[in-house]
Amino acid sequence: MPNQTSTTQSTLSVWRLVGDLLTSQSIVGQVALTGALDPVDAGSPATPRLVPLAGEGGALAAILVPPEAEGAVLCDGGALCPGLHLIRHADQLEVDGQTFWVAASVSADVTTYDPAIHGDDVYCFVTKVRLHPGDEIVSCPGRPGVPCGIIYRRAAWEMALESDPRFRCPGCRFDPSEGVWKPSVPEISSLKSFLEKARRAHGGPSEN
Ligand SMILES: [Zn+2]
Repeated sequence: MPNQTSTTQSTLSVWRLVGDLLTSQSIVGQVALTGALDPVDAGSPATPRLVPLAGEGGALAAILVPPEAEGAVLCDGGALCPGLHLIRHADQLEVDGQTFWVAASVSADVTTYDPAIHGDDVYCFVTKVRLHPGDEIVSCPGRPGVPCGIIYRRAAWEMALESDPRFRCPGCRFDPSEGVWKPSVPEISSLKSFLEKARRAHGGPSEN
C-alpha cells in the first residue's frame, strides 16, 4: 500500500497587484494586512490579521477583523464583520484599497525516501518497485482539501509527466501543471471596475 500518512504539502501564498504586476508571497506565520503585507508586530491591534491554518475542512487561513476595522475588509466583495472568518482557496480580500488573493500553492517536490518519514515497505506507485532509503522520490502533495501522499520514484514521476502533459495523480487528481494558482487577468480588471463603482457609490474618492 502506498503511504497515506503525509499531509498536503501546500503552502499559503498571498497574491497582490503592485501597479499592474501580480506578485505572490509565501506566508508561514500571521501577517498584518494593511496596504501591504507586514510582519504582524508592525501592525497595531486595529490592523486585520491573516492567520494560516492547517487546512482543516478546506480552510486555508482565517482573517481576524478587529472592531476598529469594521466594514474595512471585503471578502469576495462582501464586507466582513468584526471577528474571525475562514478564508478558502482563491478568496479575494480587499483591505485599504489593496486587493489580496489567498491561495494554496502546492508543488510536488523531490525528496529522498526515509522510512522514518514515509513508512516501511513503500513501493513506487507506478513501477511497483520497492524503495530503498536514499532513493529520490516525489510524494504527491494532494490538492487543497484532498491530502494524498502517494509516493513515486522520481524517474517514474518525471517519465509520466513527459509521456503525458495532462498527467494527473490517479490517487487525488493532482495536476502538476496547475500546482501554482494565480488570479486571472479578467478577474482583476472586472474587480478594479467593481471597486471603482463601489467607491463612487459610497461617495469616496474617485480615481478620475
Ligand atoms: Zn495524489
